[in-house]
Amino acid sequence: MQTNFSLAQLADPDTAESEKILRACVHCGFCTATCPTYFLTGDELDSPRGRIYLIKEMLENNRPADARTAFHIDRCLSCLSCMTTCPSSVHYMHLVDHARVRIEETFQRPAGDRLLRALLAFVLPRPQLFRAAVWAAPLAKPFSRLLPERLRGLLAMSPKGLPSPSPVDTPQIFQAAGERKMRVALLNGCAQTVLDTAINEATVRLLTRHGAEVIVSKGAGCCGALPHHLGKVDQSHEFARHNINAWTSEISKGGLDYVVINTSGCGVNVKDYGHMFRDDSTLAAKAAHISAITRDISEIMNLVDYAPSNGTKSLRVAYHSACSLQHGQKIVREPIDLLQRAGFEVIEVPEGHICCGSAGTYNLLQPQLANGLRERKMANIISVAPQLIAAGNLGCMVQIRAGTDIPIVHTVELLDWASGGPKPEALRSIV
Ligand code: SF4
Ligand code: SF4
Repeated sequence: MQTNFSLAQLADPDTAESEKILRACVHCGFCTATCPTYFLTGDELDSPRGRIYLIKEMLENNRPADARTAFHIDRCLSCLSCMTTCPSSVHYMHLVDHARVRIEETFQRPAGDRLLRALLAFVLPRPQLFRAAVWAAPLAKPFSRLLPERLRGLLAMSPKGLPSPSPVDTPQIFQAAGERKMRVALLNGCAQTVLDTAINEATVRLLTRHGAEVIVSKGAGCCGALPHHLGKVDQSHEFARHNINAWTSEISKGGLDYVVINTSGCGVNVKDYGHMFRDDSTLAAKAAHISAITRDISEIMNLVDYAPSNGTKSLRVAYHSACSLQHGQKIVREPIDLLQRAGFEVIEVPEGHICCGSAGTYNLLQPQLANGLRERKMANIISVAPQLIAAGNLGCMVQIRAGTDIPIVHTVELLDWASGGPKPEALRSIV
């Protein structure tokens, strides 16, 4: 695609990078065939190609974002299905990230939207605040009519109950069982430590059982993805900086083979720290190293030669491949192979490349499109008649769980169960 930026514009490294990305696009439109929002609306501006044009126009003309651009970029899931499809290797992720920052900095949203986005970016990454907000939600419900419409929707979607905080989610070291094969830092995350504590517990058991010493580092927490996807670059970089420093300190204390992530949405973000801090003279090298040693839990379990021990679990599992795993990290076969090795009958879901509508805070900010995608996902899952669903990303689990009674668990909970861990709580009713 031809571009028309001035030399002064290209002196800005983010604009220079976006220009390179724009030039790679040959506007062939192949990406429209796999874009979930284009499926739903049929509007070219809700397709990757249409969004690329909007971003080009905004950046080239060096103007503040207008309502039309904000509207269609906000409707993008950042599912990255378009990147898997694109034959020209257009790095849509970095382009849309840049556009979101420009929109956040230059577009004046309605007051209710601004408040909602600020609340989500501030509360969700902070487990204590998030827990307090969920606890307070029922108290606020009788007054919900007094709240702006967007906040009312948020209140209606708040979870009914929460597990107690888990002892694994405080800074500590878990020793490897038997000979130590590797030393890893586990990102225990933010929302996950509030909404589903069983995932980190299963991950720690699974890793230590397979010879990994697991560190939950002091100072590490939210990866920054939630504010990042809202275009709030200062907040997201602040979280990322804490993690980079915390894990770098572990490297100097006793070495670190890997940073392990069990929420694939966070994995995409941490694997991109090197890019985020590429122009930061103090953090660039450290950030690049952290990204280089970051692995999804399914990659690690293949490395440590996962050994199921509990006999076969011949349950029919519909494997939901999170976009952040399959498109964001190009991890497709690993979780399926591990589940099969554990004895599960794994059924791939039709249209498995299409997003379930979760996408971080997307289901809270774009409920209509998110619900449409969930319905489509549920119809596909139900068509293969599974006994349970497995996924490698909490966001997808929450989104899918809201549309079905079929139990849904994290892949690590099944791998843990099949190698000596307890049966996942969600499966009590079926086995
Ligand atoms: S498939 Fe790639 S090159 Fe073709 S229009 Fe989409 S982003 Fe551009
Ligand atoms: S990231 Fe997903 S929703 Fe956004 S343009 Fe690409 S395919 Fe469409």
